[in-house]
Amino acid sequence: MQEPRTQGGAPKRIVVKLSGEALGGASGRGLDASVLARTAAEVAAAAAKCQLALVIGAGNLIRGATLAATGIDRATAHHMGMLATIINALAFRDALGRLGTPAEVFSSHAVATVVEGYSVRRADALLDSGAVVLLAGGTGNPFFTTDTAACLRAVELNADLVVKATKVDGVYSADPLVDPNAVRFDALSYMEVIEKRLQVMDLTAVALGQEHDLPVLVCDIAAPGALTKVAAGAKVGTRIASDAAK
Ligand code: UDP
Repeated sequence: MQEPRTQGGAPKRIVVKLSGEALGGASGRGLDASVLARTAAEVAAAAAKCQLALVIGAGNLIRGATLAATGIDRATAHHMGMLATIINALAFRDALGRLGTPAEVFSSHAVATVVEGYSVRRADALLDSGAVVLLAGGTGNPFFTTDTAACLRAVELNADLVVKATKVDGVYSADPLVDPNAVRFDALSYMEVIEKRLQVMDLTAVALGQEHDLPVLVCDIAAPGALTKVAAGAKVGTRIASDAAK
């Protein structure tokens, strides 16, 4: 079992939240083989620095809310979204395996013949052994997101940090692609995220992180070496904490 979380310095254990879009190449859709291989190499390199669990989204395949808008029952659409995260996790385990990095998939949404059901004790032991633990199936419940799953598992697994690995290099005051005056924040408090209505994570994830004093770091997964720097304790991207100075 992990000791209490460290404050500052190099993390011992991180939970990386990888958006599905980050696996979908330029369009953000489907699974792009070269992007998958490159991202797996970034994760493998970071996992050599600290214990690493990966929560994978499915925006490249299915988002429940988008699917529900087409007329499919809402809960069914969210279950389809959770199943899609398992597809991404299987692809990612395969990509890590080809790099020789030990990895296992656990799912919070039961698909017993394909992946093992999530168990905190099994995940904890595997992380201690140095394997990458892929956490699929979100929280296992419809109407949540994989951002919330990442914060939930980070608290449960006593991780030092959640790394939200996206296609942008941090949190900006406005969309940098639309507004040339958008500025990037180095550090934010949870209160600032809420008051400035910054679209970092959904409010359930923000509330969980705030309540449990869990730092979240937003960085660009496509920037070579960024994740490894985070795993080694370097200042990269935007750090969100209960107190911005932490
Ligand atoms: N999902 C869910 N419960 C969860 C996590 C995810 O129902 O606990 C569903 C939801 O429909 C969501 C989809 O899975 O749209 C994919 O997850 P997410 O949107 O978080 O993926 P990302 O945007 O990070 O790729």
